[in-house]
Amino acid sequence: MKMENFWQTPVKFLKGVGPARAELLAKETGIRTFSDLLYFFPHKYVDRSRIYPINQLDFAPAEVQVKGKFTAFVEKQGPRGKRLTGYFEDETGMLEVVWFSRYKWVKNTYKIGEEYILYGKINRVGGRFSMPHPEVEKAEEFQAKSHGGLFPVYPSGEKMLQKGITRKVMRHIMQELFGKIPAGSMTETLPPEILRRLNLMSREEALRQIHFPDNLRKLSAAQYRLKFEELFFLQLQLARKRLLRKKNIQGIVLASVGPLFHKFYHEVLPFDLTEAQKRVIREIRRDVKSGYQMNRLLQGDVGSGKTVVAMMAMLMALDNGYQAALLAPTSILARQHYENLKKWAEPLGLHVDLLTGATGTRQRREIHAGLQNGSTHILVGTHAILEENVKFKNLALAVIDEQHRFGVAQRAKMWLKNTPPPHVLIMTATPIPRTLALTHYGDLDVSVIDELPPGRKPVKTYHIYEKDRQKLYEFLKRQIHAGRQAYVVFPLIEESKNSDYRNVTEGYERFKRVFGPSGIRVGMVHGGMKPADKNNVMDAFKNGEIDILVSTTVIEVGVDVPNATVMIIESAERFGLAQLHQLRGRVGRGAHGSYCFLVTGNRLSDDAKARMKAMVTTSDGFKIAETDLRLRGPGDIMGTQQSGIIKLKLADYVKDAPLMLTARKEAQNLLRRDPALQLPEHRVVRKVLQENFRHKSFWNYIG
Ligand code: ADP
Ligand code: MG
Repeated sequence: MKMENFWQTPVKFLKGVGPARAELLAKETGIRTFSDLLYFFPHKYVDRSRIYPINQLDFAPAEVQVKGKFTAFVEKQGPRGKRLTGYFEDETGMLEVVWFSRYKWVKNTYKIGEEYILYGKINRVGGRFSMPHPEVEKAEEFQAKSHGGLFPVYPSGEKMLQKGITRKVMRHIMQELFGKIPAGSMTETLPPEILRRLNLMSREEALRQIHFPDNLRKLSAAQYRLKFEELFFLQLQLARKRLLRKKNIQGIVLASVGPLFHKFYHEVLPFDLTEAQKRVIREIRRDVKSGYQMNRLLQGDVGSGKTVVAMMAMLMALDNGYQAALLAPTSILARQHYENLKKWAEPLGLHVDLLTGATGTRQRREIHAGLQNGSTHILVGTHAILEENVKFKNLALAVIDEQHRFGVAQRAKMWLKNTPPPHVLIMTATPIPRTLALTHYGDLDVSVIDELPPGRKPVKTYHIYEKDRQKLYEFLKRQIHAGRQAYVVFPLIEESKNSDYRNVTEGYERFKRVFGPSGIRVGMVHGGMKPADKNNVMDAFKNGEIDILVSTTVIEVGVDVPNATVMIIESAERFGLAQLHQLRGRVGRGAHGSYCFLVTGNRLSDDAKARMKAMVTTSDGFKIAETDLRLRGPGDIMGTQQSGIIKLKLADYVKDAPLMLTARKEAQNLLRRDPALQLPEHRVVRKVLQENFRHKSFWNYIG
């Protein structure tokens, strides 16, 4: 049999599996072939080198191993139904083994007087020990095949256990597989040079050791090697994609920085750029004149000043006779960008248009015309921009703000707005932990604004409880009387439905009741309102005609009202960390000291407590993102469906961050020396990549 055929053999051909179990395995774990089985790793190991005398179980860990004989089996009516008790003795004492099902099978299988080894959880009730549903092995057989004492435990669901695929059975299935593997068929996948440099275990040994470790040291070396392999091929794939994109996709050459850029910089821009902003502008500059298509992710904490960077990038396009577009996730944000950009662009004689879902038909027609004849220079809008009938004369740059709200498919649509595709600048204020950025956006170049404009004071953040509400109100009154403004944000019960605005409406009434009498003006905005009404409220808030704005998270991203200094987040425990951080970012934008209050109920989950603590102790978005990753795991962070987050099998985005950086460095090294993977020692690497290409979906990024 050819090796490949061996690995593709369906698992039902293994002894102990058969068609019924094979079906169950496929359904519950996705295991279909020998190769799937090989890569189905234990999720933990138990130390079975030690056998405890029964009279010493008081000092034993929760799960133990004992050796002895059954003396009797008795069926009893217990408090919760029938059960079978087996009396099990060694020289030192007696233990009750309890089964709640399969009595007949147990009684027929386990023989009184024979020696067994039991493994299971110990319960201590009234000075007596009992062990429910242990793993039972004949002592003789068990000792014959035990090795090292570390036993693999494979992930298994309730269904699998019910159908008899217990830990023990799963272990036997693995043993069957390993007994069948033809010599030399677990071929090496990493280049010898890397194995040597990183001192990695061979693939064959690692795969054996991870299933049946000789000892802890070997197990950890095996895990290290296999984690590296996983991360290496991931990073290699991403790096190669980036390389190919740069080679294959021609970019629009924005040859020169011209008068618009200079005039803006010297005459319009009301402040000095931070060093970080300048650096990022230089990075963008280098991209857009290179002949490659830029695909750059710009990360910068809330308030770090990404918009002006976007503006200057757009001016590079305009200076070369092209158009630019800016895509925002909400209409509130789109309009705010529109107003800012217009203010900056008009002195330069540039025409900016706004296109959202609310744009009327006639206006829409005019905008379409302006885009096609080139009289519109910059288009700002929501995903309305993505519609097919929105065509540009010559779009050279698409800026996508707050990227995490947009899916990959939407990015792709921007690509189609010009040939060659426009340069793409993606801006996100949700800092992504580095490891996640390296994989999720591994095919993009990344710039970071790691510096806030001068004079910003950190937002003082407090976690308070309902009972403090009165004090909070008094504080709020003082701020408003000092001329400041405030946001009060309520969670939405069912964001997707956009129907349940009870929280926010009731909150609005309450704030009106409390603050109205002192002449404080309270307004409300939420996603269920008509666009025109939303705009009116936002305008009123911006112009200082509303003092307290009660809202849902529609104001989460991007909204910029420097005079607002208080952010009150109601039921803060119901928000995720990233969201809390975003919301807090709405204040602290002006010269005045700012405050964020997280109001929660008294009873909080550990998770919620950790979130509140993170918010109170740091204002660094990157640190918050790391905590978020730790609390929630990568899938949730990036949002589930559209993110295409890569699920790692062995490695962990948090714990294995250093290894990921190593893997990335090695991948880049290798590609630098052998971009097409043509050297004989890289043939195997290429093959693995190609196989992954066929099987996995994570290459479906654009770009
Ligand atoms: P974000 O990165 O969150 O999108 P913005 O672009 O909205 O941040 O900028 C936040 C505020 O800081 C805006 O009012 C902007 O005009 C101002 N700003 C940006 N850069 C600077 C700077 N270098 N110096 C002073 N203020 C700046
Ligand atoms: Mg912004």
